[in-house]
Amino acid sequence: MNINRENTHIIPIGFEYHAPESLDKAVELLHKLSEETKILAGGTDLIPQMKQRKTEPRNIVNIKKIPELSCIKETREGIKIGALTKLRAVELSSLIRERSPVLSEAAGRIGSVQIRNLGTIGGNICNASPSADMATALMALDAMVHVYRRDGARTCTVAEFFQGASEIDLQRDELLTGFTVPFPPEGAGSAFEKVGWTTFDIATVNVAAVVTLKGGKIDHCSIALGACSPAPVKVVLAEDVLKGKEPTAEVLEEAVEFIAACVEPRERWRRAPPEYRRRSSQALAMDAISRAVEQARGST
Ligand SMILES: Cc1cc2nc3c(=O)[nH]c(=O)nc-3n(C[C@H](O)[C@H](O)[C@H](O)COP(=O)(O)OP(=O)(O)OC[C@H]3O[C@@H](n4cnc5c(N)ncnc54)[C@H](O)[C@@H]3O)c2cc1C
Repeated sequence: MNINRENTHIIPIGFEYHAPESLDKAVELLHKLSEETKILAGGTDLIPQMKQRKTEPRNIVNIKKIPELSCIKETREGIKIGALTKLRAVELSSLIRERSPVLSEAAGRIGSVQIRNLGTIGGNICNASPSADMATALMALDAMVHVYRRDGARTCTVAEFFQGASEIDLQRDELLTGFTVPFPPEGAGSAFEKVGWTTFDIATVNVAAVVTLKGGKIDHCSIALGACSPAPVKVVLAEDVLKGKEPTAEVLEEAVEFIAACVEPRERWRRAPPEYRRRSSQALAMDAISRAVEQARGST
């Protein structure tokens, strides 16, 4: 039989539906249920994947009734963002816009308003896509990921959480509860750049940069690159070139040479050939770093 996997409105499989009302009930369920279980947040990734039979879970655990998973609040360590927080809320939050604007900027570049009103920051990361826009911005901000399971909680960096092609550091009985985004250093400038097939589309390349200056030289620098290798990455070699130097055009050129070296697209990626990603990652990184430097100059 010829199955329409692209454009169907039908979810062709049967599943058990669960909607726990507390975190403890949710992880208890995840512990009890079989491997074929999927967590449902906004559903903007999961539901199309189920319609296309890319995943066929026997159990769905909807986490939308767990109130503590939706929050944006200031803590001593930085901004705490619950996993279930809508992308639109991240985009519009005055706290995030003021203290970590690159995160709002990246959220505002995801899909359409409709997608951002449904999609969550946790779902964006747990979908394990190399082009997840939130991942690149969170990585540049050195954000921490919080994970919860029946026997306790653990924390790791976003960079550690992404382990490889479609692979994240999350066991089947674990739930991502949220993030802590440390405040960037005083006077930091930041920028997010992205190119896709259309403005509403997922990234063909995305870059986030956070920079501070001291005495006209780059003091702190953090650059992350997405959609160019099996998982988003921090471009440490480019950061090392920039640190301690005046951000002249030559220094920036030298740094973005290392961006292209991080471009290792998978064979089957069809959105753009490797050479396009190499060149556009350099151009976008140049724009992001330059814009971050200008912002940092403006605040010193
Ligand atoms: C038209 C369209 C345009 C899009 N454009 C973009 C774009 O420009 N940029 C971009 O980055 N993405 C884009 N996306 C992808 C998607 O919208 C985002 O990744 C969104 O953030 C996913 O969040 P969600 O809450 O809908 O996740 P869901 O679909 O509910 O879940 C996604 C995955 O994460 C798992 N999961 C969700 N929450 C948790 C949790 N708390 N703990 C553990 N596992 C969890 C689910 O089991 C599932 O495997 C687009 C999608 C569509 C349909």
